[in-house]
Amino acid sequence: MTRRAAIVGNWKMNGLKAQIAEARALAQAFSDGLPDGLISAICPPATILAQLAEAFEGSPFAAGGQDCAPQASGAHTGDISAEMLADLGARYVIVGHSERRADHGETDAQVRAKAEAAQRAGLTPIICVGETEAERDAGRAEEVVASQATASTPDGALEAGAILAYEPVWAIGTGRTPTLDDIAAMHASLRTALGGRFGDDAAAATPLLYGGSMKPANAADILAINGVDGGLIGGASLKAADFGEIIKAYATI
Ligand code: PEP
Repeated sequence: MTRRAAIVGNWKMNGLKAQIAEARALAQAFSDGLPDGLISAICPPATILAQLAEAFEGSPFAAGGQDCAPQASGAHTGDISAEMLADLGARYVIVGHSERRADHGETDAQVRAKAEAAQRAGLTPIICVGETEAERDAGRAEEVVASQATASTPDGALEAGAILAYEPVWAIGTGRTPTLDDIAAMHASLRTALGGRFGDDAAAATPLLYGGSMKPANAADILAINGVDGGLIGGASLKAADFGEIIKAYATI
């Protein structure tokens, strides 16, 4: 079967209004479209999401949020609901990024509630999972990732088009990546775990992205791994030229 593939940029807490120039450059560079079968989105800070969505109008790129509250509205000072992201033009939202799990103590149950909120608002959740270095060193990486993925993914989410991203915590922003064999093994075991919990057909249809220090120099090798259906890109998504090179690398595989 042919699964969708996705290359998604996560700008994290980077970018003032001037950063929208990079989105315009991307839209310009790919005005003829993206490689066949590929979808692509940028998830900027919420403060510039509306401008980014506007810059992408008429382009093949979509806008996404980096997090959402489980609730649709109410007395939750500082939080942003999935409905609000959708109202600004978002079509995707990252949930359960390891920085949110670490900095804000988000649990699998909270991540699951956020993924449910995304679906309620008509957004596609990108559910992030990944082991710490200590968990990998202890030989527990696959078990940890399987447990996070099955507990963070709502029932019915895969059938509705949810995307998962495997992001080893120790590879994020460090310049280090797992070996290609380790990524392949993790994606295979993650898909098996999703199949065991949600059914093999749903698991087989779900895009599993890799994230963690992906850049133009390693993108083609990582994207060519069997079972890797694209990437979630942090640092290398901030410059249109680098992100564009990663998209072009996908086209070569
Ligand atoms: C991320 O934070 O999702 C990520 C993959 O970051 P980087 O590409 O910078 O490692």
